[in-house]
Amino acid sequence: MSTATAAAPASRYDIDGLLKAIGDVPVTTDMQRVRLRSRDYFWYSPVLNKQLHGKSADIVATPRNEEDVIRVAAACAKLRIPLTVRGAATGNYGQAVPLEGGVLLDLTSMTKIEWQKPGIVRCEPGLKMNDLDTLTRPQGWEIRMHPSTKRMATIGGFVGGGSGGIGSINYGGLREPGNIVATRVVTCEEKPRIIELRADAAQKVNRTYGTTGIITALEMPLAPALPWIDMIVTFDDFEEAVKFSYEVALADGIVKKLITPMIWPIPQHFNALKAHCPEGKHVVFCMVAEPSVESFKNVLGTRGMVTYEQPHDDSPGKEPLYEYTWNHTTLQWLKQDRTITYLQCLFPHDRVLESVKQMTEMFPDEVLPHLEFIRFGGRITCSALPIVRYTTEERLNEIISLHEDNGVFIANPHVYTLEDGTRHKSTGADVLGMKADVDPYGLLNPGKMRTYKPVKS
Ligand SMILES: Cc1cc2nc3c(=O)[nH]c(=O)nc-3n(C[C@H](O)[C@H](O)[C@H](O)COP(=O)(O)OP(=O)(O)OC[C@H]3O[C@@H](n4cnc5c(N)ncnc54)[C@H](O)[C@@H]3O)c2cc1C
Repeated sequence: MSTATAAAPASRYDIDGLLKAIGDVPVTTDMQRVRLRSRDYFWYSPVLNKQLHGKSADIVATPRNEEDVIRVAAACAKLRIPLTVRGAATGNYGQAVPLEGGVLLDLTSMTKIEWQKPGIVRCEPGLKMNDLDTLTRPQGWEIRMHPSTKRMATIGGFVGGGSGGIGSINYGGLREPGNIVATRVVTCEEKPRIIELRADAAQKVNRTYGTTGIITALEMPLAPALPWIDMIVTFDDFEEAVKFSYEVALADGIVKKLITPMIWPIPQHFNALKAHCPEGKHVVFCMVAEPSVESFKNVLGTRGMVTYEQPHDDSPGKEPLYEYTWNHTTLQWLKQDRTITYLQCLFPHDRVLESVKQMTEMFPDEVLPHLEFIRFGGRITCSALPIVRYTTEERLNEIISLHEDNGVFIANPHVYTLEDGTRHKSTGADVLGMKADVDPYGLLNPGKMRTYKPVKS
């Protein structure tokens, strides 16, 4: 860990006082590295890219354990220094970007598994999800769901900033009861407390961007580990591709983990898969359990063609199919063309196919459907991260309104506050109450929860 202080500009905070108070907690003060680590994937959004460019912490602290976290939190509270938690910083909305400088608390050194039992694991937050899976698989278990950034992202960052992903077709999103069993958090006070939040209460730190406490342990449910098969199916007709996807999603006997229909020309941007994504064909990317492949093909019949069928492998050096789905779809296109952006939609479960058709026809060649079938509140529907050919912020907002006017919910990925990014434009009273309890001075990731007024100055 670097302790260099190269080119550190004068800070508005008492960083020397902080360094004294935290003792031997590893820190980085080299400003080039601090600035680099203060960024996440907000550049996906042309709107956020303008707003968040250049925002940086003053110092990065990398705790080795919970005691180190407590020392940093206590020092920040005493000296009124903002504290922003960071996992792998793969968030899309500047969630881990410190808007008001201060300390960036990098938890990637906290990677221990406390214990594992059948169907459940308790671990530290800095563990990468791929490493977690590698450790639980030999006992026959894997994480229930993960983002497409599984190979980079931490489990703490997923709970703090994510929503769902591969596996959500079976278990819904992280928000669903039972998908986070317990969380342990450290408060940001002169004398930090440790709070164990179980069941419903554990949700008070889910997707709150580190504003409602620093997660130092997580109890996460696991699913039986299965041999998965990565599959690409191609179609002449996009509507047929969506219809097939919906049928597979509804077929409870077919064990799957991912169903992702994407309209042509999205697959045109999947360079490494060109041979399996023929010109002009719409695609469905799937992960199907090996014993279900035969039934999957039976449902498909002659409507589409399987062009890729490989045992799933996301070990180092491999490229799993899921890295073309969820928000990786956007990334694959952005690698070649920075003029596009995306949205996050949720289609009504009682008219999925009609609603998808309506939206597809409303914005021909401007909003290109990329759907993700999921279970939501026990019902099958699809979320979507469509590619949007970006022109202006006004047009983007108009597209959002047109979706909402037609019953498609939007979680706006072009805003950085918690409230504005949700469908309901609010944090919820329990989360606000939690915030007041754990962060009286408003030091945790300040600026991200706009409705919170610190209860102490
Ligand atoms: C290409 C791409 C694809 C993606 N696909 C998905 C997807 O499929 N599903 C999905 O949900 N997301 C997705 N994301 C967003 C992101 O990758 C995930 O949510 C990921 O799990 C975040 O983990 P991280 O370690 O990078 O967290 P970070 O980005 O470091 O942190 C995320 C938020 O959580 C907070 N946080 C981190 N650790 C803690 C902690 N210990 N205590 C309290 N707060 C904490 C941070 O302050 C921040 O606000 C994608 C992003 C990209 C760039």
